Amino acid sequence: MNDIARSHSAARREPDEKMDWISSIPFLLVHVACFGALLTGVRWSALAVCAGLYFARMSALTIGYHRYFSHRSFKTSRAFQFLLALAATTCAQKGPLWWAAHHRHHHRASDRVEDIHSPAQRGFWWSHLGWILCRKYNETRLDLIRDFARYPELRWLDRYHLVPPIVVAVALFLLGGWGMLVVGFFWSTVLLWHGTFTINSLSHVFGRRRYKTTDTSRNNALLALLTCGEGWHNNHHYHQNTANQGWFWWEIDTSFYLLKALERLRIVSGLRTPSDSVKYAHLKYTHEERRALRQGGLVLDPTGRLLRGPQLHRPRARVRNTVAAGAD
Ligand SMILES: [Zn+2]
Ligand SMILES: [Zn+2]
Repeated sequence: MNDIARSHSAARREPDEKMDWISSIPFLLVHVACFGALLTGVRWSALAVCAGLYFARMSALTIGYHRYFSHRSFKTSRAFQFLLALAATTCAQKGPLWWAAHHRHHHRASDRVEDIHSPAQRGFWWSHLGWILCRKYNETRLDLIRDFARYPELRWLDRYHLVPPIVVAVALFLLGGWGMLVVGFFWSTVLLWHGTFTINSLSHVFGRRRYKTTDTSRNNALLALLTCGEGWHNNHHYHQNTANQGWFWWEIDTSFYLLKALERLRIVSGLRTPSDSVKYAHLKYTHEERRALRQGGLVLDPTGRLLRGPQLHRPRARVRNTVAAGAD
């Protein structure tokens, strides 16, 4: 198969990769419900709850689902592990085992054909939303998350992942009525979804590349602010097991600041941070390599070979060709 044929086969949708309208109804309805604010109005108190719930839940998601369950970048007790999972489940992004297993797969196959949500392979909308709205990835890949699947309380949470967000929604309704439900819960949940999804989509498209990786990951300060530190995605793909994703003082990473506070309170321990040889690896790059990084390139093929020349300016074609070359 030549490169073009491979590219086309990568872009074609399998039947189970088409949008599953029935199972997507709740996701779509939550978006529609946001317009309920036209009827309820928008109170300052509801806006404050919206902002508070957005950042609290985003922090729980990045610290819990991502840095702990996906990457084991720090240690904690079994009780706090459950609390982290419970808090992150209120984000309505399925259960901890489902989320972390799919994320581990993303790192194994970043931007290759097998990558579930690669904008380089399948385009922006697929990486942002398409893969979530189809049926293909509904199951939890327990083979990728055996280390945490042995805890029955996490398996329970993974199965009944809709219970925590529903409890939060009902509580807000009882406390503040329809206006609080719409703005406090639905608005913050939709913002939270798309904020999280930008890491799969925009963080592989916009931003600067500091390190050579086998994918198109980038560092983006704005996305880092919106996602409590997750926008330093090129750092993260270069060395994925660190509890911090902002590695320099100017790389704001609020989730890590929270982790440091939890460490002081002795709730978490063993926060992994990058060694100097990892952090400063880019200083050893050649002038040509640094220039290629500034242009968004310096993507390595699966064997670690550096791609050069015009391919550096055509990321989608480059990555697809890389995969084709690696598969031959
Ligand atoms: Zn990524
Ligand atoms: Zn990750």
